[in-house]
Amino acid sequence: MKALQDLVRPNIWALKPYSSARDEYKGFTAEVFLDANENPYPNGVNRYPDPLQEELKAMISPMKGVPAANMFLGNGSDEAIDLPFRIFCRPGKDNVVAIDPTYGMYQVCAETNDVEYRKVALDESYDFDPEVLLNACDENTKIIFICSPNNPTGNAFKREKIEKVLNEFDGIVIVDEAYSDFSSARPLRHDIAKYPNIIVLNTFSKAWGCAGIRLGMAFASEDIIGLFNKVKYPYNVNVLTQQKAKEVLGNATLLARHISQIMEERSTLMQAFALLPLCEKIYQTDANFFLAKVKGADKIYDYLVRRGIIVRNRNRVNLCGDCLRVTIGTKDENTRLLAALRQFV
Ligand code: PMP
Repeated sequence: MKALQDLVRPNIWALKPYSSARDEYKGFTAEVFLDANENPYPNGVNRYPDPLQEELKAMISPMKGVPAANMFLGNGSDEAIDLPFRIFCRPGKDNVVAIDPTYGMYQVCAETNDVEYRKVALDESYDFDPEVLLNACDENTKIIFICSPNNPTGNAFKREKIEKVLNEFDGIVIVDEAYSDFSSARPLRHDIAKYPNIIVLNTFSKAWGCAGIRLGMAFASEDIIGLFNKVKYPYNVNVLTQQKAKEVLGNATLLARHISQIMEERSTLMQAFALLPLCEKIYQTDANFFLAKVKGADKIYDYLVRRGIIVRNRNRVNLCGDCLRVTIGTKDENTRLLAALRQFV
């Protein structure tokens, strides 16, 4: 890896971050808060939230097996996807490399930040060759994106392939493990100490059942986390989100039950889906969704919408012609999907 200073945009390296009212008194126990121009009358949200979410990070840390100092929390993982562009990529000069197809927000964030987005096509088994990915890089490539398990294909990549990229690329490698709770592969977040150039993304939106609170996580070296904290909005995770996340973290048994129910439903639904006359092929998955090649994705998608059932039409995505992406629902939802598809003519 290059020295961090050589990877970071010079303006960000030199940036003096905003110091919020709540940052400045650290270390003392305070009772009277006349520092932040808040309304003093309590209603549960009249005070600004903890800018670094320390209590919440202390609860997440043992669950994820990652020290709080190696953790950034943001407004969904979408915030943790956008910030690295602003930290590392000089607009109009630098580029990033990503497998294709993959999660669409990497490209949207690249284009928003005026950063070239280089796509490296997966092969027909939706796998990638580390050499090909590395060959797509040049001296201005700052970040490589690998989503594993990948969205929309569902498959997790072999650890050795990701490790080869981590070992041989001299920039930052973002490994998006949004769906790792549904995979039997050992998550890379446990190895952040080994790879100074890794940023692992996790989210509360999938297994944790909290898409509505918008809470994402990035795990990386303390130096990289320091850069995230420098650039983020001062109070980027609101009070209500922090409260709800703490409540959910207190109920790990419910989480485990949901994950095992989703995995069980996944195998039932996939077996039944594969037998439908309209199904051409089901792709193996390590996530809470699967990709299916069907006979006429547009027609089937429109038919399902008319029946009030929404799946994701991936027909126009590279290498996903005639594919639908189906999220695993409850038993009842999955049964309704199958019943509707059995009536499709
Ligand atoms: N990463 C991947 C791979 C995703 O599929 C998604 C959501 N579809 C996200 C990140 C976004 O997660 P969040 O809701 O935390 O912004």
